[in-house]
Amino acid sequence: MTEVDAFLVNCRLADGRLVDIGISGGKIAVLGQGAAALSNSAPALDIGGDLALPGLVDGHMHLDKTLTGLPWMGHAAGSTRMSRIETDKTILPHLPLSTEERAGNLIRECVARGTTHLRTHVDIDLESGLAKLEGVLAARERYRDRVTVQIVAFPQSGVVRCPGVLDLLDAAVRNGADLVGGIDPLEIDRDPRGQLDGIFAIAARHGVGLDIHLHEPGEMGLFSVQEICARTKALGLGGKVTISHGFCLGGVTERKAAEAAEMMAAAGVSLVTHGAGGLIMPPIEMLRAAGVLVFAGNDDIRDTWSPYGTGDLLERAAIIGWKGDFRRDPQVELAFDLISTAGAQALGISDYGVTIGAAANLFTIAASCVAEAVAAHPPRMLPMSFVRPTKNSSRTSAMPTAETRS
Ligand SMILES: [Zn+2]
Repeated sequence: MTEVDAFLVNCRLADGRLVDIGISGGKIAVLGQGAAALSNSAPALDIGGDLALPGLVDGHMHLDKTLTGLPWMGHAAGSTRMSRIETDKTILPHLPLSTEERAGNLIRECVARGTTHLRTHVDIDLESGLAKLEGVLAARERYRDRVTVQIVAFPQSGVVRCPGVLDLLDAAVRNGADLVGGIDPLEIDRDPRGQLDGIFAIAARHGVGLDIHLHEPGEMGLFSVQEICARTKALGLGGKVTISHGFCLGGVTERKAAEAAEMMAAAGVSLVTHGAGGLIMPPIEMLRAAGVLVFAGNDDIRDTWSPYGTGDLLERAAIIGWKGDFRRDPQVELAFDLISTAGAQALGISDYGVTIGAAANLFTIAASCVAEAVAAHPPRMLPMSFVRPTKNSSRTSAMPTAETRS
């Protein structure tokens, strides 16, 4: 008989089965109906038939921008993307809490709501150098036993229009960032070849993936999708490249969107979405049917870009489902997949799920099924995490900061 450290008894699984879950050494060792009674005398906690779901995966965040833990601050930026980019530079350096403290505050909020894995973008620009990366790395280290954190070195202010940023992105990857970012190569840089060739070269040189913010609308965005797919294919980076947002996919004709989906699936380029307010959402069901890996994240959470949110991924799934007009249970379950299994696949998390052998990263919730958990998103009852640190999180930091760079 398998030795078990503790049992959760009477757990409802996503497939409806009522089981006992035995945890041993941070892994799910036993899973079955009445399993606790047949096993050793390990302590048992009766879950009372509530749902047990796997730890959630936030595929797109900005830990360095959050205002979590500070007194309420009204939104200060203007209505354009460029005004938000510039406002970040005037507000973030002068906050009474450091990047590490604010990022840590948000990580705790996310973990309390069942998140066990996340990918965050961190601003890399000429003004702040690698300082924000350093803060997020410190927060990642502090919470390394609660949540895994993938870091994207994000050139928010642009690449070609800010000479020197490519060197900073390269330094960011050498100092702990897991992926290279990018942003609107046409709209921000007005030089798609310059930006994309630059960031893909860094990714290829270090053997890391890319996650590129693409807000560009319509045909302009479609052009960038094509350029990203072409480089992904040429460099053999399939499965390691993500387009964040991809609003253009929802703003072109169905035929053109379908062609783009086919191209993304063939190149191994995934899409992360968050159901943005005021913007067209990409056609999630069509993209998935075409074979594109689509996952989701909260994006901005109570930060300099948006006052909304708490880090609750079930609420995020509900927003995406509401915006996508997902009404039937299989559609709502699809919204859940975006913040769980699909996200785990995109982030390369192998020991995922409420299944024997997986890490015991799970939570319980007073809901009868996945669709109800998403639609009502009641409080998480028992968030547990037994995560293993990501490959870079144990690196010691020895990087120049904005203060030390000349
Ligand atoms: Zn973002």
